[in-house]
Amino acid sequence: MTGTHDVINPATEGVVTTIEQVGVEETDAAIAKAVAVGPAWRDVTPADRGRLLRRFADVVDAHLEELAQLEVRNAGHTVGNARWEAGNVRDVLAYYSAAPERLFGRQIPVAGGLDVTFKEPLGVVAVIVPWNFPMPIAGWGFGPALAAGNTVVLKPAELTPLTAIRLGELALEAGIPDGVFTVLAGKGSVVGERFVTHPDVRKVCFTGSTVVGQGIMRTAADSLKRVTLELGGKSANIVFADADLDKAAASAPMSFLDNAGQDCCARSRILVERRVFDAFMGRFEAAVAAVSVGDPADEATAMGPLISAGHRDAVRSFVEDGVDVDVAFRGSCPDGLGWWYPPTAVLPRSVDDRVWREEVFGPVVAVMPFDDEADAIAKANDTAYGLSGSIWTRDVGRAIRVARAVEAGNLSVNSHSSVRYSTPFGGYKRSGIGRELGPDALDAFTETKNVYVDTTD
Ligand code: NAP
Ligand code: MG
Repeated sequence: MTGTHDVINPATEGVVTTIEQVGVEETDAAIAKAVAVGPAWRDVTPADRGRLLRRFADVVDAHLEELAQLEVRNAGHTVGNARWEAGNVRDVLAYYSAAPERLFGRQIPVAGGLDVTFKEPLGVVAVIVPWNFPMPIAGWGFGPALAAGNTVVLKPAELTPLTAIRLGELALEAGIPDGVFTVLAGKGSVVGERFVTHPDVRKVCFTGSTVVGQGIMRTAADSLKRVTLELGGKSANIVFADADLDKAAASAPMSFLDNAGQDCCARSRILVERRVFDAFMGRFEAAVAAVSVGDPADEATAMGPLISAGHRDAVRSFVEDGVDVDVAFRGSCPDGLGWWYPPTAVLPRSVDDRVWREEVFGPVVAVMPFDDEADAIAKANDTAYGLSGSIWTRDVGRAIRVARAVEAGNLSVNSHSSVRYSTPFGGYKRSGIGRELGPDALDAFTETKNVYVDTTD
């Protein structure tokens, strides 16, 4: 053990609990165990592996409220969101419980024999999880990784370890053998780094900041570890003049305020066609004013606090303390204890403004007019990121044209949906490498082996 860590409730600043953090020695021991139990896990028959994952899903479902309440206290998520998040872990496990029996290879016509491919597990997969969605992001890694026959070590973020620790216990309760899925609470600079340097880890599945992701990819090159990286975003919500303006404005607030804006898919830039700019802003301001910010345990709350004091300072630095930016309007938030920040809409003066270019990861949106379709696409793509985005228009042809032209992995038309467990998720450009979820997720957790059998006499 390297020491203890106080887990803090971001809505009250009170200590929720104190946990032991592991160090390199415990990390190495867990990886050694994951290696040792690998062959037995890989040899569990496909039907039985599926059955175990379904049992894991059922155990998560039976503890859904407990997990949700834990996340409300640990991460300040609204209780409605936290229930969805625990349910997402269950659903991902249920979805991938069907995968072991459908992990098909191919039979390829060749001369002189039979050629078949196999999808084989990689071995030990390390999952590194950020603090913004502790449960879903953990599940997107361990669900398909386990289904493919890998063993998994997982590190939650230092600030939000509690639900991951509980999921590790629930896996054992469901009958997943000891050592197949191990949760290691500890520091990124200790446990996370060890995952990336350890010779027996075959793949690192990382979600977090672009700068840490870049470092992981550099280090992983030494041992040619496979990486999946899900990183930051600066997604655009493009509103054309022919859109249902009432609906576009009514839905825009939660597209950047959900999870207090601590969402890699947050539509933190809104582009509005110039001739409806004022009409949109009036409706948008009224919709933001109606968002209730406060106690995340209250069923009626739409937005809770930020994760930490340090993160609130980082968010504030985009808008306050002598920053030259025009604030269009602000919503309200509690004062007193808790790391609150009000919903804030700003009008950048140019596309070079920091708030227009950098990820805020808080309840701040930047709004800018555009002139025509080409201008909208150019502005949307003028970013290093490419994770998601939305297009509001009644013109079907335009919706498809713009969706194809925006360089991002997850676009939605007349909605702000980004993540479904049954569809692929991931980023273009500096938003990451690889895709998670959807029907092809196991490709990222398997090697393809080709076997040729000579059938000549
Ligand atoms: P972060 O600092 O990159 O941390 C993410 C995880 O990596 C944490 O578990 C962290 O551990 C660990 N880590 C830190 N340094 C490490 C190192 N040198 N080696 C290995 N692991 C290390 O990001 P964050 O502050 O938690 O989350 C905010 C960022 O994540 C935002 O930029 C956001 O856009 C991005 N994000 C992206 C997605 C997506 O799907 N694309 C989803 C969520 C978040 P500690 O907690 O101990 O530092
Ligand atoms: Mg960090």
